[in-house]
Amino acid sequence: AQKSGYGHIHLYKKSVLEKKYDELELFNAIHEAIEKSEFEIYYQPIVRSKDKEVVAAEALIRWKHEKYGYIPPDIFIPILEKSGFIIDLGRYALSEVLKQQKRWEVFRFKSIEVSINMSLLELETEGFVENVSQMLAEHQVAPELIKFEITEGAAMENEIQTDRQLHELKKLGVSIALDDFGTGYTSFSYLKKFPADVLKIDKTMTDHIMENKEDQRIIKAMIDLGHSLGMKIVVEGVENQEMADLITSYKCDYMQGYYFGKPLPAYEFQELIRR
Ligand code: C2E
Ligand code: CA
Ligand code: CA
Ligand code: CA
Repeated sequence: AQKSGYGHIHLYKKSVLEKKYDELELFNAIHEAIEKSEFEIYYQPIVRSKDKEVVAAEALIRWKHEKYGYIPPDIFIPILEKSGFIIDLGRYALSEVLKQQKRWEVFRFKSIEVSINMSLLELETEGFVENVSQMLAEHQVAPELIKFEITEGAAMENEIQTDRQLHELKKLGVSIALDDFGTGYTSFSYLKKFPADVLKIDKTMTDHIMENKEDQRIIKAMIDLGHSLGMKIVVEGVENQEMADLITSYKCDYMQGYYFGKPLPAYEFQELIRR
């Protein structure tokens, strides 16, 4: 497809998906789905650019519905957000990740940091930080092994409250990543005071990097900007070696993408961190 066609492909995809799933039906199925353990956490490797070693993972939720089969998170997360069930799912995801971290520790796999996506609704919920703190204590996992990702769009939506909550979170010792960077409207003044340890440059920013010189300059500038504000950088959507080499040459700290590995079930992912 040519560049100009992307918008259409997107719309087409969207309308097909919307017909495929009945929102109300999914909405009603969610509680049962948690009870029936239809949700599973997959882990996508994040590598250190300089030696391509797997040093972290992103936890990505999967829903295997008994009737529809696999439903992508882009479909059900928004429904969960509207219904408030995202809070339950967030707790579930964190507890699964913490249990997994503990297992890896017991079986002496390399300990790695796991990133968990957090929606604005969770962050806005009273007692969220206390809950995270309690769960860390309960599972006895070091806070340094957990990172929360919040999208640029979400972070901007409720600046004042998210700011306060994010600082509280950081006090626990967990770290914060600003996700989907480049897709929203983050201002420089906001970025300057945003308490992120890591900036994740969105895949849409790198999609045409191999054939577009302007895109290359923009990515390079974003990496330099993040560094000058004291943040580490993850570039997402790295799908081949040429891209990996180019991005490494820009001094990007970490990379994530199908070239290094797709999101995998825990038992497959752990082969990558076997000592
Ligand atoms: P995201 O946080 O930006 O996650 C990255 C998405 O890009 C994932 O899609 C991942 O599978 C995909 N991806 C990674 N590398 C490549 C690549 O090289 N090429 C391509 N084409 N795609 C790549 P996924 O797993 O479908 O997740 C979609 C979104 O759903 C996530 O975007 C995140 O915003 C949301 N999400 C997933 N799990 C959770 C969760 O537990 N809680 C919340 N609140 N949101 C979640
Ligand atoms: Ca993410
Ligand atoms: Ca992302
Ligand atoms: Ca995203």
